[in-house]
Amino acid sequence: MIVVLKHGVPGEKKDQLIAWLQALGLRIHISEGEYQTVLGLVGDTSAVDIDLVESLDIVDSVKRVTEPFKMCNRKFHPESMVIEVGGVKIGAGNFVMIAGPCSVESEDQIVTVAKAVKEAGATLMRGGAFKPRTSPYDFAGLKAEGLELLKIARKETGLPIVTELMNINDLPLFEDVDVIQIGARNMQNFDLLRELGKVDKPILLKRGLANTLKELLMSAEYIMASGNEKVMLCERGIRTFSDYTRNTLDLSAVPMLHELTHLPVIVDPSHATGIARLVPPMAMAATACGADGLIIEVHNDPIHALCDGAQSLRPEEFAALAHRVRAIRGVL
Ligand code: PEP
Ligand code: MN
Repeated sequence: MIVVLKHGVPGEKKDQLIAWLQALGLRIHISEGEYQTVLGLVGDTSAVDIDLVESLDIVDSVKRVTEPFKMCNRKFHPESMVIEVGGVKIGAGNFVMIAGPCSVESEDQIVTVAKAVKEAGATLMRGGAFKPRTSPYDFAGLKAEGLELLKIARKETGLPIVTELMNINDLPLFEDVDVIQIGARNMQNFDLLRELGKVDKPILLKRGLANTLKELLMSAEYIMASGNEKVMLCERGIRTFSDYTRNTLDLSAVPMLHELTHLPVIVDPSHATGIARLVPPMAMAATACGADGLIIEVHNDPIHALCDGAQSLRPEEFAALAHRVRAIRGVL
């Protein structure tokens, strides 16, 4: 349920209403916008007399929120959320380009790529140290050493780090990471999501291979309801009957998620298509339809990449794309 307050309500009256609602056993999420204050009521609202609340002189309107997701619901938080990472703002018109290799392979590789993507205009870098691989025989990342190499690249470039956490036991190693990525395969690892609620860092939550938008939002809700509201959603393609691309990039998810939630929405055209030459057109389409950012795989030597070389752009290709993305942003 949400309670929209009238404009200019005195703080004291607002506090009285909040205390009364809390006494009914509810958690109150307060969203102070420029024009209105919205109280989001979380918990069992059956004891709340809607007519009574609506009759209060400080209340503008009361609505039941029928969706199962509350904390990430735009009705709770009408203004788009801005997430800040190392001075970089994401969301509500602040666009971010995250770029880097699928996996961290060596100091030379990650530093070279980080410098190149920064030069091209990326403001965050990606790089996997813990890699979820379909085959147990494939390269699974440099793990703790990979995280150390990311920190070296950050020191060289100043770019904050986005990297994937697969197992909650590894969380202590991620203390100095800027954004924790939760991969598609872990989107519904509910114990992991709950633990991330105790972390004071932004989480990039990727949509599962066969998950609906509601399921994605419910996973964000797990993190937020456990205490961490800094969640970014990522559309990275879903499994369909597409035969020539790795996945199907569901771009309608972008405007739909913007209607449903105030959280930033990032698009990953690399895992969506699996083919480097399809990344630029889909990245531009994602920009045009209102994504808050892109996460793109870039490798200095894609042919010899240990993971996802076929979908990785070369630095110069990324630079050309970044230029076109900025042009599209200019038009928007
Ligand atoms: C990745 O970003 O390298 C990755 C493994 O992504 P996803 O979880 O979307 O497959
Ligand atoms: Mn990858």
